[in-house]
Amino acid sequence: MGKLVIVGSVAFDEVETLFGKSGVILGGAGTYIGLAAHHFEVDSSIVSVVGGDFPEEYLKVFSDRKINTDGLKIEKEGKTFFWRGKYHDDLIGRDTLETQLNVMENFQPQVPPTYKDAEVVMLGNLHPSVQLSVLEQMQNPKLVVLDTMNFWMDQNMNELKEVISQIDVITINDEEARQLSGEHSLVKANRVIQEMGPKTVVIKKGEHGALLFQEDQMFFAPALPMEEVFDPTGAGDTFAGGFTGYLAKTNDYSFKSMKKAIIYASNLASFCVEKFGPERLLELSPEEVTNRLKIFKSLTQFNIDLA
Ligand code: AMP
Repeated sequence: MGKLVIVGSVAFDEVETLFGKSGVILGGAGTYIGLAAHHFEVDSSIVSVVGGDFPEEYLKVFSDRKINTDGLKIEKEGKTFFWRGKYHDDLIGRDTLETQLNVMENFQPQVPPTYKDAEVVMLGNLHPSVQLSVLEQMQNPKLVVLDTMNFWMDQNMNELKEVISQIDVITINDEEARQLSGEHSLVKANRVIQEMGPKTVVIKKGEHGALLFQEDQMFFAPALPMEEVFDPTGAGDTFAGGFTGYLAKTNDYSFKSMKKAIIYASNLASFCVEKFGPERLLELSPEEVTNRLKIFKSLTQFNIDLA
């Protein structure tokens, strides 16, 4: 069984969409990544920090799924990272209304000794210096994947570029790819980003699917057309968790394997948007995942004589 180290926020979120307000709920990039990766046979460990206000029932979310939490620090005196956002009525655009870093502000990540030899590292959305520190603690990872967001580009671009120069795969959304590269065309943006370091670039386009670029090769996976999108929070992280979970399970990092990985990733992300926060992922059964994968397959498979 492959080992996966996950770094990312474990948080309290408050989300508002046209369907209403979530109240304070469990969130964080690391949480979504872990919940998605657990659908594969992988031994994952989450490296993050929470405050003394983080409830036991939320810690159980990880232990119930056998996600190792030796690297999840609890700062008894501190407060958990908090993020509040409001979606536009198109359920695509969103405004961050509040980000309280709290315990995340001075977080010194510690990778548990038994996970330093993990093959795959998922550097989820967090301060680039935390991502870098985790990378430095790893012995010889075979695949390093990074996700980030505009918040860190606005505040720590130089440090972020330093991490990006050391990774194999970056997964970002289209807006962030444009911001990072300064190019509007995503094909050009991919080229600029590859020059920064990663030889594989995954650009997430929300309801329009995801693009996979590896050197000169390109592949596209659609998103499942949904009858109703309730809350897109965490879909990108769920995608990243599905992508790395599949690759850590197979230990095959070829382009062919990554093509499969983005289908598995899109499949899992399609569940995430169906309810507020991680609610849908928390109740998701393996049968539901497999059944939807079949729908995905029939959606994308065509056998038409094009010549
Ligand atoms: P996504 O919708 O995939 O962008 O991820 C949303 C999750 O990212 C939420 O659960 C937030 O808690 C978390 N988040 C928001 N801002 C930050 C940030 N600056 N650093 C780390 N995590 C964040």
